[in-house]
Amino acid sequence: MAKIFCVANQKGGVGKTTTAVNLAAGLARLEQRVLLVDLDPQGNATMGAGINKAELDASIYEVMLGLADVRAARVRSETGHFDVLPANRELAGAEVEMVELDNREKRLKDALAAVDDEYDFMLIDCPPALSMLTLNGLCAAHGVIIPMQCEYYALEGLSDLVNTIKKVHAKLNPDLKIIGLLRVMFDPRMTLSQQVSSQLEQHFGDKVFRSIIPRNVRLAEAPSYGMPGINFDPSSKGAQAYLAFGAEMVERIKTL
Ligand code: ADP
Ligand code: MG
Repeated sequence: MAKIFCVANQKGGVGKTTTAVNLAAGLARLEQRVLLVDLDPQGNATMGAGINKAELDASIYEVMLGLADVRAARVRSETGHFDVLPANRELAGAEVEMVELDNREKRLKDALAAVDDEYDFMLIDCPPALSMLTLNGLCAAHGVIIPMQCEYYALEGLSDLVNTIKKVHAKLNPDLKIIGLLRVMFDPRMTLSQQVSSQLEQHFGDKVFRSIIPRNVRLAEAPSYGMPGINFDPSSKGAQAYLAFGAEMVERIKTL
């Protein structure tokens, strides 16, 4: 059975896609079979895995509306060595079109069930909103990985996300847990980063991943080459940190 995780945070630009793509590639390096699910109409995870979102035969949009199955829509990332269920801007329309469908918050869960035995991990890159799409991600998953920048405003949105996860856990998906908070784009020279980081540890204890992802320009450059950062420049600090995070995830889920 595949372990399914959402990478979620309703803020944009906090490192969700970078985390999803690099964790997918990191797990693939550890010989795990991975499906990266792009649940954001921006299609950044799709492009970052080296897949042209403008040239898809089918995408997650058709899958969620029941017009195609996952096997028909998935594509192989040659630069990341994992499969991708790709997205493009068509997906934005699904939000509205799903309103009329039955079981609308479980469309993704039902679709992914068809390929469950083909993967060890499925990673869902969520859009920057607590929307029907994100709700589909949360209903499909066993757990949530929350990337955070250690800055003052980071903590503000966190309680909304945590409350949403609690509600989904209570009403829709009893399996759902917060797997952990991942500190990303970390700058150890900033006092504020250190302060927010230790506040997080005090508040969330061992829910904070030990791995910390530094701010690293190679991670930011990699998507323009259609490559996960860890394969673009494996010796960079960012790549090393995401590799360590992949290993930490494999360890952590043993105790789930
Ligand atoms: P989100 O998916 O939450 O919107 P992204 O992963 O797209 O966030 O990241 C936002 C921007 O920050 C992107 O340009 C990305 O390349 C850059 N970025 C993400 N993580 C890092 C990092 N650790 N170091 C440097 N740049 C990063
Ligand atoms: Mg993104």
